Amino acid sequence: MCNYTQREYSCGHFRWIASEWCRDYTITHKRCQPNVTHFKYRAEERCGDCKPKEYPPWENLIKRPNQPVS
Ligand SMILES: [Zn+2]
Ligand SMILES: [Zn+2]
Repeated sequence: MCNYTQREYSCGHFRWIASEWCRDYTITHKRCQPNVTHFKYRAEERCGDCKPKEYPPWENLIKRPNQPVS
């Protein structure tokens, strides 16, 4: 099994980022059952799909009051 880090973003989406590939995967390149070893909650971050793309890079440095979840 390959080791994955699960990330939860403030938008409520999850992403799994492989932290270590197992031997089976390096040989066969077949995805196996993910083994989630770490959980991270990114309260200040939204996932790649939910990130606003029209804002300049410094936008996420600005602190904003929390918006109610619609
Ligand atoms: Zn694996
Ligand atoms: Zn999202």
